Amino acid sequence: MSTKTGKYQVLARKYRPSKFSEVIGQEALVRVIGNSFKSGRIAQAFILTGVRGVGKTTTARLLAKGMNCIGRDGEGAITTEPCNVCIHCQAIAAGNHLDVLEMDAASRTGVNDIRELLETVHYQPNTARYKVYIIDEVHMLSKSAFNALLKTLEEPPEHVVFIFATTEIRMVPVTILSRCQRFDLRRIEPQTMTNHLNTIATKEGAEVDEDAMRLLVRAAEGSVRDGISLLDQSISFSSGKITAEITRNMLGLTDKGRILDLVELIFIGDAAGALEEFKSQYNDGADPQTILMDLAETIHFLSVVKINSQTLDDPTLSPEEKTRGQDLSSRLSFMVLHRAWQMLLKIIQELTYSPDQMMAAEMAMIRLTHAANLPTPLEIIEKLQKSASNQTSLEQSNIRDKAKSMDQSPEAKNRSSANVQNQSSQNIQPSEDVHPPIKQASKVEKTDEQPQVTKNATGENSQPQGVENNELVASVLEAFPEAKVISNNSGK
Ligand SMILES: [Zn+2]
Repeated sequence: MSTKTGKYQVLARKYRPSKFSEVIGQEALVRVIGNSFKSGRIAQAFILTGVRGVGKTTTARLLAKGMNCIGRDGEGAITTEPCNVCIHCQAIAAGNHLDVLEMDAASRTGVNDIRELLETVHYQPNTARYKVYIIDEVHMLSKSAFNALLKTLEEPPEHVVFIFATTEIRMVPVTILSRCQRFDLRRIEPQTMTNHLNTIATKEGAEVDEDAMRLLVRAAEGSVRDGISLLDQSISFSSGKITAEITRNMLGLTDKGRILDLVELIFIGDAAGALEEFKSQYNDGADPQTILMDLAETIHFLSVVKINSQTLDDPTLSPEEKTRGQDLSSRLSFMVLHRAWQMLLKIIQELTYSPDQMMAAEMAMIRLTHAANLPTPLEIIEKLQKSASNQTSLEQSNIRDKAKSMDQSPEAKNRSSANVQNQSSQNIQPSEDVHPPIKQASKVEKTDEQPQVTKNATGENSQPQGVENNELVASVLEAFPEAKVISNNSGK
């Protein structure tokens, strides 16, 4: 556990749950443990898994307390609400109970460490009901250490309970897992975390404004320990009310509103504006890499909102982020967002090798802004396909006009042929053959859907244009393979 500041440790300890009813966000776990304690059916081994800071170690100690608590009067039974005053509760809280042994497998991975720990496993507990062995980060044990542990787990003495905690459940052998009752500790939901931190802040007499609380909850990423420690840090960071600005400075975060400004400037293609905004964020203390990462995060956010607008219900989003997120996501196409994402990933990678991060990041702004002005590969393909089909239909209509003109009065014939000549001169590939046979022209009309036939009527000229376009389409598809997928899907 971090000891960055003395105060941090105090708050995190102060609000550590001392009974199961105080555990937040783990209702399923609390219910199952409550039931098994009530019925007296206690597993011989538990395994607790979940991301860091969701309360695995706390739960392990609570289990140890609950199984050994004797209550204020010394007559109490196993309980999910340990009294926290009896000798067992106090010794476990202080970490010096003779029958509750803790080992951190992250620092002691070897077979000898396990043998040492399990040396006394067959002796009765000194004073407690159960001998409890808590092994933290159990996945770090070596293969031989796991084997040594397995031997005891296969036939554990009745008075022994093992509690394992791990962040990497997949690295724990199945032979161990199959002998444990497993609990998956969930990340704390944003709303639950917000309520919890607000309660603590009120108890501590700290005033945290709504935006600051959103930033804290988001930074905690579902870890209640991180949430409390961040709240604690921001309390010591500020002398009065905790504002979003204080929290951002403390967390080294950029202003989401300003990142959205930057996204907007990039996508309207305003390179000068984007550069200026980027520089101003940099001058205000934001790190170039952080700004780019936040840009990528925003692109991801906009894409997800496009797919599912319920994403906007997230309570950690500010009202500004919600309205602007919805607006931007509706204005930008997936292709544009995909391209910006790809570019940002590359740029962020390049930034680590760049001798001057600021310079590289500025170039990145320019590249992104210019790319925003470019048509997407799909648009290029559509344009080319459209121009190819326009070309064909224009030529076909020329032929039809010419064919008609042969049956008309001399006057009309002249007008019509003038039209033909006008059109021909506007045509990119003017036809030289002014007198196609009627038979051929009618054949062309019948085969409207097959543009390649026009070559018979209008000579060889129309063919190279079509081929050229096809080649262009092919080369665009080669350069942007993702366009192929989208082009195919849109065709269906
Ligand atoms: Zn007790």
